[in-house]
Amino acid sequence: MIRRAIELLLLMLGGAVWGWAHESAHWTLAGAVLGGLIWVAFDSLRAQRVLRWLNKADGERSPDVAGFWGDVADRCRKHIRKLDKKAQNSEARLEDFLAAIQASPNGVVLLDAAGRIEWSNLTAASHLGFVNERDLGQYVRNLVRAPAFVAYLSQGDFRQEIQIDGPGPRPSQPSKISLQIHPYGKKRKLMLTRDVTAVQLAETMRRDFVANVSHEIRTPLTVLSGFVETMQSIPLEEGDRHHYLGLMSQQAHRMQTLVSDLLTLSRLEGSPAPGPGEWIDSEELLTHVLQEAQGLSHALVRPPHHIQALAGPAIWVSGVKTELLSAMSNLLSNAVRYTPGGGRIEAGWRLRAEGGGEFFVTDTGPGIAPDHLPRLTERFYRVDRSRSRETGGTGLGLAIVKHVAQRHGGQVEVQSTVGEGSTFLIVLPAARVRERVTG
Ligand code: ADP
Repeated sequence: MIRRAIELLLLMLGGAVWGWAHESAHWTLAGAVLGGLIWVAFDSLRAQRVLRWLNKADGERSPDVAGFWGDVADRCRKHIRKLDKKAQNSEARLEDFLAAIQASPNGVVLLDAAGRIEWSNLTAASHLGFVNERDLGQYVRNLVRAPAFVAYLSQGDFRQEIQIDGPGPRPSQPSKISLQIHPYGKKRKLMLTRDVTAVQLAETMRRDFVANVSHEIRTPLTVLSGFVETMQSIPLEEGDRHHYLGLMSQQAHRMQTLVSDLLTLSRLEGSPAPGPGEWIDSEELLTHVLQEAQGLSHALVRPPHHIQALAGPAIWVSGVKTELLSAMSNLLSNAVRYTPGGGRIEAGWRLRAEGGGEFFVTDTGPGIAPDHLPRLTERFYRVDRSRSRETGGTGLGLAIVKHVAQRHGGQVEVQSTVGEGSTFLIVLPAARVRERVTG
């Protein structure tokens, strides 16, 4: 400030001296005023430059102005730099925040007071079937037309979530979307969506499963309690009593088998997949299950089946021995139970051309029609219900086989021709199969 005053005084003084040289008091005064005006003009020019620079608000470089206006510009520049940094930080934080919401498995939509989409993450867009960029600013009620949503929006009671159909993989297979609105701010709304298709499917499967198990247990229980009542109310001869007890024991055994298969399944589902496990000689496994199958065949049919091991390369498999035995014996027991007496059953281990190995069971039984094949490994799915019951089937055998195969990184395959027979395979990946090196 003092510098400015000195500058002004000096210029006025210069003007006055110049006027005084003309030896007149008027010229002296005019010279001082002229000096003052020149200073004002220069000062305005500098102020103008600072103003022009301020319009561009460059926080990096201040204008080349000296003196008071230079100081003003410098202070402004520092302040602008601070504000710029703050704005950059806020922007980065906002971007992080939006990226986090984008990554969320739940859908998030922000609606303005009129119900227009202000922002939405991609998950919400895919749940509700709108195109993220194009549909910004659109009224949400024009895009989500499900009647339940329209009613929800117009009633304005958002305490409960609702469920609507979302665009699924196919029009006939819509996804199930759970949606809830949370009002906030000045009449704005936060809309959250969640894909509950899998949860609903699991719930339906759980209900079906409980219904199936109850049904499976109720039948033998009804038979058992019927016999108990008969034996309590009617005096029976020794022969009849013996016969009834035999039938009761059969039903009790059926329930035992069912419970045991259910426990096996729940153990398989509930435990972590086995690591590499031990290397087991496949021949040892095969001999074990073939002996079992011979016993079952002799107990079930006359004449018994021709059960044969097909010799293949010496193979070692890695996994959990009890699980592999259970899966193999389930396949052989099916072949025995569904193939008429005298039929041929062959089983063995072999390597696959594309790598890995497989356990196969081939029978000359009735075969299975192609439309049943995809559902065979579902729990309680039976093609021949009465044959399954007669031979003590639980409907869980192939479900157990599938679980064991999958836990070992493999799968179950079925080839079948009606009237000719079937081949069931447990396919294991290369990491679990190796040829025994002899010599
Ligand atoms: P189950 O205890 O009833 O045998 P599974 O899960 O083992 O149940 O098999 C499912 C169904 O697949 C059986 O009910 C049967 O109808 C059919 N099935 C399985 N193996 C064979 C086979 N080797 N030949 C013909 N049908 C079979």
